[in-house]
Amino acid sequence: MGGRETERTTADTMGPMSEKYAVGASPTRTSSATGAKPRSGLRAMVIEDETELAALVGSYLERDGFEVTVSHDGARAVTAAREVDPDVIVLDLGLPGMDGVEVCRQVRTFSDAYVVILTARSDEVDTLIGLSVGADDYMTKPFSPRELMARVQAMLRRPRPLREADTAEHMRTFGDLTVDPVGRDVWLAGEAVALTRTEFDLLAALADQPRMAFSRRQLIDHVWGETWVGDEHLVDVHIGHLRRKLGDDAAEGRFVRTVRGVGYRMGTGR
Ligand code: CA
Repeated sequence: MGGRETERTTADTMGPMSEKYAVGASPTRTSSATGAKPRSGLRAMVIEDETELAALVGSYLERDGFEVTVSHDGARAVTAAREVDPDVIVLDLGLPGMDGVEVCRQVRTFSDAYVVILTARSDEVDTLIGLSVGADDYMTKPFSPRELMARVQAMLRRPRPLREADTAEHMRTFGDLTVDPVGRDVWLAGEAVALTRTEFDLLAALADQPRMAFSRRQLIDHVWGETWVGDEHLVDVHIGHLRRKLGDDAAEGRFVRTVRGVGYRMGTGR
């Protein structure tokens, strides 16, 4: 007797492998009485460990028609982002475990989402801009959710892809570089170049008017929108990333030329 206790299998004690992130943090999500008009297929992620703030931002995004996924944990957020394939990510810098900088870097390896980083201190933004984090925009807490949504909406107003039939007409070539604004593709010597949304939009703006010298502000108007207010050196950072990916540099200006005292213009590719 005194039989050994049956060894319990762990199968029934492990619990479901369910994700810990909540899909749709706001109670408005399933309500059809909110009057929200969901835009088809636009997805947003809110990665923020302050649950109330996450829910608030999520509810604003839902009101604007986004399908929202909220995550309170950096590492899980990266996993979730692979599945969600979001158009917009609102990312808190200070997260438990994996911080926002690392989340952004990892997400950037597979996503061209529009990433807005939330920071607690305005002086962090300068540091972040200096790092190659890959975010498109920054907001300092406390921030106005309306301002955040204005920036997201400005991003959404960026030129939509043109009709397929217009492809050949709109294709731009500069030496070895080809820019296709319809498919949002870039090729360098026949090889596809993976650009972020912001890098592509900057290049497309320059390529569309290759004789024009753009000021930083004009590029901001094109890419971030006319309502965007902030440090215009954000443009320089993204131009720097773009040049690196194109094997270009400031001195050479083969594809992106620095116009002293003004800003940037398209290079000839030679
Ligand atoms: Ca935080």
